[in-house]
Amino acid sequence: MSLGLLGFQTTIAEPVTLSGIGVHSGARVSLTFHPAEAGTGVVFNRTYPNGDVIELKAVSSQVGATDLSTVLGFTPARSVATIEHVMAALYSMGIDNVIVEVDSAEMPIMDGSSRMFIDAIEQVGTVSLGVKRRYIRVIKPVRIEQGASWAEFRPHDGTRFEVEIDFDCPAIGRQKWEGDLTATTFREELSRARTFGFMRDVERLWAAGFALGSSLENSVVISDDNSIVNVEGLRYKDEFVRHKTLDAVGDLALAGAQFIGCYRSYRGGHKVNAVALKALLSDTSAYEVVEAPARSQRARAVEFVAVNVPGFSPWLAEA
Ligand SMILES: [Zn+2]
Repeated sequence: MSLGLLGFQTTIAEPVTLSGIGVHSGARVSLTFHPAEAGTGVVFNRTYPNGDVIELKAVSSQVGATDLSTVLGFTPARSVATIEHVMAALYSMGIDNVIVEVDSAEMPIMDGSSRMFIDAIEQVGTVSLGVKRRYIRVIKPVRIEQGASWAEFRPHDGTRFEVEIDFDCPAIGRQKWEGDLTATTFREELSRARTFGFMRDVERLWAAGFALGSSLENSVVISDDNSIVNVEGLRYKDEFVRHKTLDAVGDLALAGAQFIGCYRSYRGGHKVNAVALKALLSDTSAYEVVEAPARSQRARAVEFVAVNVPGFSPWLAEA
């Protein structure tokens, strides 16, 4: 199982830097992935021109806003936004430990997908840290509903996503992506799916001072007459639901550990994903913490063993 990477924690082999613009600020952003020790998790270090650095652990308890993107931290001056495409790349590649240093309040949007983060990490490669990875295995269904949207976790041998969207807009309509998540399926079927929006919303956001970096270079835009504005068209014919699945992967990565189970959502988004994850993590009868047995180099989910860790809660741990 590629996501499991043999059950041992990993990090990246050496630092790698990307730069781009923030989708909301339109400002230039530099991002560097740094290797980190076992047990670190994913930590965002936001740097400031005066030399200050704040540290934000990428865990559910640190999620602030989820309206336009997923934000870590609770005040604009001390937060980082639009982390989901970076988190999806790290999660799908099985990278447990990394410091993400960023000099802005938001991640660079790149091409609106996870692809360039994956390319950058593939350039440097990953290394095993020889310390066992812990997983969260779903053992009981957990479901949440929000208006016409719902999401649920169900037990499953492996990591599976079933994401369905239903837009009252002919250009999108009803679409579903379902499949077991591995590094390969993520890379080939999901990683290139771009964020999308409606022309009318983009204009409204621009007027309010948001989405200043949003353009046809990083978003699929749907016009008022329901056509795709981008001349190059779509990267997948159901690119919209694939992007929603990519977002769900990134949002669930905030469990602070990989999960073994199936995540299903209908008309979901960042808020639904965040609420569903909190519901799972707050019901300690719905999951158990497991790790791969020592000699299992070809670990399958069914071989994983529960570890008795009183109070183990990676998502609540402070950085
Ligand atoms: Zn997204």
